[in-house]
Amino acid sequence: MSRPYKKETICIQSGWQPKNGEPRVLPIYQSTTFKYESSEQMGRLFDLEENGYFYSRLQNPTNDYVAAKICELEGGVAAMLTSSGQAATHYAVLNICEAGDHIVLSSTVYGGTFNLITCTMKKMGIECTIVDPDAPAEEIAKAFRPDTKCVFAETIANPALVVLDIEKFALVAHEHQVPLIVDNTFATPINCNPFKWGADIVTHSTTKYMDGHAMALGGCIVDSGNFDWNAYPDKFPGLCTPDESYHGVIYTEKFGKAAYITKATTQLMRDLGSMQSPQNAFLLNVGLETLPLRMERHCFNAQKVAEYLEGHEKVAWVNYPGLKSSQYYETAMKYMPHGTCGVIAFGLKGGREAAADMMDYLELAAIVTHVADARTSVLHPASHTHRQMNEEQLKEAGVASDLIRLSIGIEHVDDIIADLEQALSKIQ
Ligand SMILES: *Cc1c(COP(=O)(O)O)cnc(C)c1O
Repeated sequence: MSRPYKKETICIQSGWQPKNGEPRVLPIYQSTTFKYESSEQMGRLFDLEENGYFYSRLQNPTNDYVAAKICELEGGVAAMLTSSGQAATHYAVLNICEAGDHIVLSSTVYGGTFNLITCTMKKMGIECTIVDPDAPAEEIAKAFRPDTKCVFAETIANPALVVLDIEKFALVAHEHQVPLIVDNTFATPINCNPFKWGADIVTHSTTKYMDGHAMALGGCIVDSGNFDWNAYPDKFPGLCTPDESYHGVIYTEKFGKAAYITKATTQLMRDLGSMQSPQNAFLLNVGLETLPLRMERHCFNAQKVAEYLEGHEKVAWVNYPGLKSSQYYETAMKYMPHGTCGVIAFGLKGGREAAADMMDYLELAAIVTHVADARTSVLHPASHTHRQMNEEQLKEAGVASDLIRLSIGIEHVDDIIADLEQALSKIQ
């Protein structure tokens, strides 16, 4: 058998590959530390002169095998796991931005990302300019400044379900000599590989479809290896000039295409420590094995439910990129021809009040602060995940105050629709 394998095969076979007599299933290396024969060898590990595990705050084999699988799925050169999607976003940006720098941010990103970048990172001295992802490239170009270090956006925005024109964003980022970082959580690498369209770095909340069973928080950063940091050494001194905290190592010189992930591991994990537990990585790996099967079912079910809702008299609007009526249908067809995700946004004619009533009547669909797992769930972002935002911020984020976020699971679609039907029949 020759590589590259197809994604279904990667999900099962890649990452951990046991040698003769080793366990078939990825072991959980439940150990904080690793043993060495000589003090000198340990020293070389600390100098990054030798590869090897020494402390699980930086690296752990279980995590690395799972990261390698996700890396292969995305078509990247290096990847790392983090304790959550938030940590992945934070490190992906902080790895190339410091106080005094600037980020261009899509307005429709996940609420957690929006808070992290516009509030917390602002306190750290990193500024951002928010852009409308649907704006023409010339408009987006106006947001860039000499101190801009990256562009951040989502392939499918949670919960606005805006599908990103990845090529447009990649072009405008590259024209301004900075990488495009894309959060690919909702599409997953099964439905979209942003690197193919020019994105440089991909982040994931593995908490969602990748785990898929709502069991374990986690995140992942994958580097395409395509961005040429050395072409702009003044912009990216952290990667292109000596790191005093590692005896003057220059990441791009010593690690080539692995420079970005190596720096994020050796500096950010070392200093900030948002490591994923090996136990969670193990669960994530089990989830990844069935990701292609589940995504197919999520998308199939969501398409049926979206069509059902669109035809319902009490429904005011439905936004699902798989619907022909969606303004993102063409973009979705281009970037995700096999399906988008299982999340649907819709509003009722009865508005915000009817939304709350209907959610309370649902029996199968649970009200939970989660999306993108095997069980159908529902949330009202304006009252829940996005409640810190004011009306104007909600509007910019593409979150109407009546928007119901319905995350379609992998149950039988007839049962999901029957549940919606009975709840809708009870509201005004
Ligand atoms: C949930 C989510 C995150 C944050 O991930 P956590 O694992 O909850 O920290 C980031 N981006 C998107 C698109 C998400 O849906």
